[in-house]
Amino acid sequence: MANHHQSSNGSAEIHIEIPEIKFTKLFINGEFVHSIKGRTFETLDPRTGEAIARIAEGDKDDIDVAVKAAREAFDHGPWPRMPGSQRARIMHKFADLIEQHAEELAALDCIDAGKLFFRGKAVEIPSAVGMLRYYAGAADKIHGDVLKSTRSLHAYTLKEPIGVVGQIIPWNYPTIMFFMKVAPALAAGCTMVVKPAEQTPLSALFYANLAKQAGIPNGVLNVVTGFGRTTGAAISNHMDIDMVSFTGSTEVGRLIMQAAATSNLKTVSLELGGKSPLIIFDDADVGNAAELALNAVVFNKGEICVAGSRVYVHEGIYDEFVKKLAEKAEAWKLGDPFDPSTCQGPQVDKRQFEKVLSYIDIGMKEGATLLTGGKRWGSKGYYIEPTVFVDVKEDMRIATDEIFGPVMSLMKFRTIEEAIERANSSKYGLAAGIVTKDLNVANRVLRSIRSGIIWINCYFEFDSDFPYGGYKLSGFGRDSGLEGLQKYLQVKTVVTPLHDSPWL
Ligand code: NAD
Repeated sequence: MANHHQSSNGSAEIHIEIPEIKFTKLFINGEFVHSIKGRTFETLDPRTGEAIARIAEGDKDDIDVAVKAAREAFDHGPWPRMPGSQRARIMHKFADLIEQHAEELAALDCIDAGKLFFRGKAVEIPSAVGMLRYYAGAADKIHGDVLKSTRSLHAYTLKEPIGVVGQIIPWNYPTIMFFMKVAPALAAGCTMVVKPAEQTPLSALFYANLAKQAGIPNGVLNVVTGFGRTTGAAISNHMDIDMVSFTGSTEVGRLIMQAAATSNLKTVSLELGGKSPLIIFDDADVGNAAELALNAVVFNKGEICVAGSRVYVHEGIYDEFVKKLAEKAEAWKLGDPFDPSTCQGPQVDKRQFEKVLSYIDIGMKEGATLLTGGKRWGSKGYYIEPTVFVDVKEDMRIATDEIFGPVMSLMKFRTIEEAIERANSSKYGLAAGIVTKDLNVANRVLRSIRSGIIWINCYFEFDSDFPYGGYKLSGFGRDSGLEGLQKYLQVKTVVTPLHDSPWL
């Protein structure tokens, strides 16, 4: 049953409908169905730790059924065969339906993942809609090239959909991750089996229902909820899935590659973890830089793969920066993610909450000094204070490991060469930030840093056209942008002899 959530913003009382959970079953071949074994698992509200719904738990058998439906839809169904402009029309309809349900969807991600409701409604759901529309716009512009031959040959390439895709996604952005994977694959004419993270299955099932309403044919978009070791592994091991596109941890990324290697050599795309550096030079406005740095690590509770969790500040402004950063961290407001004045909600679940707290403990044992935070906030739910460590050494685990929580390692540097070397010392290479007014400094650093995205005088700025992905242990392949479409396409080269052509 729907109930009301009351939240206070100064004097104004805000009433938000907590949505009824309408979709809890697997979505296969256009129908919501129980899992074959009839098993279910709980999804929890991280604000309280209490269960909010029981969700169907799929396993290998359910994946087999879903893949069969996706295969049939790919081999014989209309989706890959219709003109791109027709796919685009259906994708725009899908986007329209999401817009109509934006509030309900933002609320689902809020109670499932602890995400900020108002940001979800105003930014994340519209971004997902934007992504669908962006790829809808690309669906009728997919084509190959005419090739130049030195012989009497006419040759060209065709771009064909890669086939049945397994999409395995994490919990930190249940909506955006879903559409970063699904939207380009739909535009390409692929069919797919999506496995949302077990922590956050609610919005994905809702999207499946909207996809059906929009007219996406049965079998094109299947959603199978369940756990990684069973449901996820069944996707990566499957002999009839042509590609797996994964976003998640580096450890699981390795398992997925191994499974692909020992099954059918399916194509793999991996968007993995990060430990991204943010370098602040001494010509920066210190107050603005401190604000940017804080946001870069506590935004979305630090549950963001591109979080700027290693911050290098030039020694000339270091002391002033530390002072300003501490003030801003103290003012950062934790609380109920339905409250419009809240900056940070709870970590996604108990496991993640305990992992982050254990890293804070490790940091203190390793000899780093806590500048701010370091504790649980409140007495229920999984809230953690924004935490800043100073006196951090490069080889401390808080500086090398991805914590995936609101924990910053703050370090001092002297020269540009040193900053570049230390920024590159990570095994990851997902993102980096530079704060400086000097274009020459920015250019030198951005060319020197080995990472997939670099922000200059900003952080987290993102749009549908921007490719997104990593160097080094942050993976390979790109989501988003036209690069994110190409990976769902296969190139076929066509060659035919030219007879009596007046020229080559
Ligand atoms: P995770 O790797 O544990 O899980 C991600 C997904 O993989 C989930 O759906 C999970 O069920 C599934 N999975 C788990 N084990 C599996 C297995 N053996 N076979 C197949 N699938 C399996 O990651 P997480 O802890 O849920 O998410 C956080 C991680 O995701 C972080 O490391 C973060 O950096 C990364 N991430 C990366 C990006 C990016 O774009 N590079 C974006 C968001 C998150």
